[in-house]
Amino acid sequence: MPLAVTHVITSIILVDLYRDYISRHRHYFTLHTVFIAGFAGLLPDIDILLGKVLGFFGEDIMHRTFTHTPLFGLLFLIPGFYFWTRRKLQQRRIAVYFFVTTFGILLHILLDFLFTTDAAGLFLLYPFSMAAYDMNILSSVLTPTFAAGLDAIILLAWLWHEEKKHKISDFI
Ligand SMILES: [Zn+2]
Repeated sequence: MPLAVTHVITSIILVDLYRDYISRHRHYFTLHTVFIAGFAGLLPDIDILLGKVLGFFGEDIMHRTFTHTPLFGLLFLIPGFYFWTRRKLQQRRIAVYFFVTTFGILLHILLDFLFTTDAAGLFLLYPFSMAAYDMNILSSVLTPTFAAGLDAIILLAWLWHEEKKHKISDFI
């Protein structure tokens, strides 16, 4: 059962490592890019919030349906490619915001798919099919306490990396 924090930090850390070590387009990444990566990592769970709001009106939406489909994530590629073709620095930075949004959403779905301990699974092909998918691996190990501990270790390792790589302590 990936926690909210897990979704945020995995997305932020992977995007940050990609920028630091892989991307040849580092200037297309801004500070906002990392924030957006974290936000997008959690975005699919907005259906929980929507469900609560709709609940006031007696409506209901099911958790892990549309916002947990690859289709939802891939939709953000459309504005992404639109801005990418504009070829200006500012436009390309906006394009990257959309690309990391797609990435964050797909990563969220992958983590839920691999580690969810809910019986329900994910409706990856919603609304076209109500087939539910999940791998449910490590379910006996991944208690909330264990997951929170793992999050803390990942976060500390990444902070250490940032300290080494960017000397963040110089700016505090
Ligand atoms: Zn989720």
